[in-house]
Amino acid sequence: MKTYNLRGKRVWIAGHSGMVGGALVHRLQREECETITVDHHRLDLRCQEATAAWLKIHRPDAIVVAAARVGGIHANSNWPADFLFDNIAIASNIIRVGCEIGVEKLLFLGSSCIYPRDAAQPIAESALLTGPLEPTNEWYAIAKIAGIKLCQAFRRQYGCDFISAMPTNLYGPGDNFHPENGHVPAALLRRFHDAKIAGRPEVTVWGTGQPRREFLFVDDMADACVFLLKHYSGDSHVNVGTGIDLTIREFAEMVKRTVNYEGRIVYDPRRPDGMARKLLDSSMLTDMGWKARTSLEEGLARYYEWFLANFPVARH
Ligand code: GDP
Repeated sequence: MKTYNLRGKRVWIAGHSGMVGGALVHRLQREECETITVDHHRLDLRCQEATAAWLKIHRPDAIVVAAARVGGIHANSNWPADFLFDNIAIASNIIRVGCEIGVEKLLFLGSSCIYPRDAAQPIAESALLTGPLEPTNEWYAIAKIAGIKLCQAFRRQYGCDFISAMPTNLYGPGDNFHPENGHVPAALLRRFHDAKIAGRPEVTVWGTGQPRREFLFVDDMADACVFLLKHYSGDSHVNVGTGIDLTIREFAEMVKRTVNYEGRIVYDPRRPDGMARKLLDSSMLTDMGWKARTSLEEGLARYYEWFLANFPVARH
């Protein structure tokens, strides 16, 4: 297996203030490389000139594109222009200039929503572009598909070692706990916590509770990224998951237990369910020798611990 040695390399984490970027900065401390970051108020990655100028000055050896406009099912359908345009701009600006300045390795991060709504489960990498997307997140999905294709195109045309990874639903420290715009783990953790503090008798969970999702703790994702940077150099994007899924109902019960909330759960079927099931086939990655280490129970406990330590306002 071809390997890329990170020792002594300058690695730019684009999007270090996000959940995955933050976990990566932390994880890379164990790799004897130097991490480079830039705050988003100092560099707007959607701006081609500014991104090119910054990259030409800082010239990283390797890049991880963890920067993106992200959000849950609600945010995706409410801001289609931002989700499509911003994410395409970020991917294309970084990838093109990365090639121009001779970046040795680039890892582009996407999401499992790139796959067709009716893809066979568990979803293998080969399911990409075999059918229509789930309409609630197609804006984000199309931008992420463009990112994968840019990596492949630059690899084929210019020989760049650009790869991409598609994580399943992520959760962990640094998540967005906005009650409407976040993903389901953050939204539910916050809602159960707030209800417990306020002594409310019930908590509402969106949709029917029937969809199935697979959840990966963000530190495991960061570990998979480092593994891929070091050991993977192929044309295909690579799925990153745990191989285990559960219903939103089962997940909500687990979050309720984590928070120690004693009230009832009610479902609001007027809210969208999104894809019926989204379980990744991660055998390509596990066959290379990587697997997730954090159980959902342990991950949720660490998630809540982080929330309590970092959301003092929500605690009272
Ligand atoms: P998705 O995996 O791309 O669909 O993204 P989400 O994390 O936003 O939603 C996953 C599933 O959780 C969907 O079936 C939602 O209906 C369900 N869900 C239940 N409660 C919530 C909530 O409070 N917020 C969000 N975002 N989803 C919720």
